[in-house]
Amino acid sequence: NADAAMYHAKQSGRNNFQFFTVELNEQLQRRFMIEQGLRKALSAGELSLVYQPVVDSRHSQIVGAEALLRWHSEELGHMSPSEFIPVAEDTGIIVAIGDWVLEQACMRAARWRRTIAPNLVIAVNLSPRQFNDGLVERVAQCLQRSGLDPRALELEITERLLMGDSETLLPMLNALAAMGVRISVDDFGTGYSSLSYLKRFPLHNLKVDRSFVAGLPDHHDSVAITQAVVAMAHSLGMHVTAEGVETAAQAEFLRSIGCDTLQGYFFSVPVGALAYEETLARVADF
Ligand code: C2E
Ligand code: MG
Ligand code: MG
Ligand code: MG
Repeated sequence: NADAAMYHAKQSGRNNFQFFTVELNEQLQRRFMIEQGLRKALSAGELSLVYQPVVDSRHSQIVGAEALLRWHSEELGHMSPSEFIPVAEDTGIIVAIGDWVLEQACMRAARWRRTIAPNLVIAVNLSPRQFNDGLVERVAQCLQRSGLDPRALELEITERLLMGDSETLLPMLNALAAMGVRISVDDFGTGYSSLSYLKRFPLHNLKVDRSFVAGLPDHHDSVAITQAVVAMAHSLGMHVTAEGVETAAQAEFLRSIGCDTLQGYFFSVPVGALAYEETLARVADF
């Protein structure tokens, strides 16, 4: 791909070619630095988790949190997950980082359930690369070590994963579901058009992507799609979460169509553990 691009750049003149290589070099250089940085991020203690409240739409109560990874690199400064997660996935580093995320999130959720929020559910994002041989055992170990009730753990997976090789995936998801762990489809509606996977896998929750929520309540297409997703999910016995809820009007509309849980800046941005605890205390404000 790079070769082809290089060829086209060459064809269109020497100046373009130089410009292109400079840019490519910068991109490769940055990617290389991200990769190097990621390799030591864990041991250097540069990773942390933030928690975004998940709100029950009917009672406006916080019922859980999504754990989201943050990386402050000594060399690169604050890095966005959308930039470093793909690199961590390509290089396989996500497997070690993902284990750490799972461990931290389970520990934290178990403590919160023991102290301030007995029914809290914690959602953790899993990348497709983490679905390798030992995953089910590693999840079981995390639950055991933390003492977290399996039913309080929700694993967020992507449509991309569900469209892959189901021969290896299905037994893993079945084993996790049999333990009581909930499986959630993240960014629902953005990946693939085929819905046949909804019947094939043990899925408990659909997270409507925020690109659909953004059009609520005024854009007809977004309204139609969100309503259809809620109706379909409920008839298949699944819950629906809306992500990216930024306004009261969006929250109100989603509540009116029976969307189960809401998440977004309207309620809270993702925050550190202490701030999350403070947010738990002002639940009635929404
Ligand atoms: P995601 O799982 O879909 O997470 C939701 C993203 O939307 C988060 O971005 C969150 O901060 C952002 N968000 C929440 N509410 C709003 C809102 O009202 N408006 C807008 N515009 N954005 C909102 P973040 O934290 O930057 O994470 C980006 C993506 O990186 C995540 O998307 C997820 O795919 C991935 N990611 C984050 N942490 C992890 C992790 O621990 N493991 C893996 N495998 N992926 C992760
Ligand atoms: Mg997610
Ligand atoms: Mg999402
Ligand atoms: Mg999303």
